[in-house]
Amino acid sequence: MINFENAHFVTSFAGKPSNLEKELPELLFVGRSNCGKSSLINALCKKNRLAFTSSTPGYTKLLNYFEVDNKFYIVDAPGYGFAKNRDKSYVDFGELMDNYFENNSNLKLVLVLLDARRIPNEDDVSIINYLIESKIPYIICYTKMDKLNMSEKAKISKNLSAVNLKIPADLQYFTSSVEEKYLTKLRNYINEIID
Ligand code: GDP
Repeated sequence: MINFENAHFVTSFAGKPSNLEKELPELLFVGRSNCGKSSLINALCKKNRLAFTSSTPGYTKLLNYFEVDNKFYIVDAPGYGFAKNRDKSYVDFGELMDNYFENNSNLKLVLVLLDARRIPNEDDVSIINYLIESKIPYIICYTKMDKLNMSEKAKISKNLSAVNLKIPADLQYFTSSVEEKYLTKLRNYINEIID
């Protein structure tokens, strides 16, 4: 079993990952700014300040590596889709990710985080389509599930059909950084694919 609490920051890359001390499987977390990515990473590892929120200046253009229990890396991608200077930040994001995806044999899975209350935007859709076309393994993680009532929960899959995305149910996970039942399920899933 992975001890998620045994997690620490290792390094950041502004481009292609190089000179990592250890080769470990990598789980890449991507999502729009404010989707709850850093909260989810922190909650998974039961740490308050492991990952930085998109609003932390200086960390927005880097891939941050966190080693978890000597078993795998969480790779935290910059939140995409900043309102300010949007075109430029999106190009930077694309370049950074192209570099990352190119010749990365350690990448095990991409977790695409979508705020469960929102319809995916064109950035979300283009990333998901890129992963599908490139045959990169991925799952969708709906975030902030604790904020939804029963009828909102029942309608989540409509968010995908609203933007013409067809994603198998077994690739859709429900998460929340404040409800332990969701976190336990996600940890169990990560255990299965890593161990
Ligand atoms: P990031 O920009 O994707 O890293 O997003 P953050 O993790 O900084 O979260 C953005 C905002 O959403 C913050 O105000 C968080 O407190 C809130 N948030 C994130 N995850 C959850 C969640 O699972 N439940 C609730 N209720 N709020 C959340």
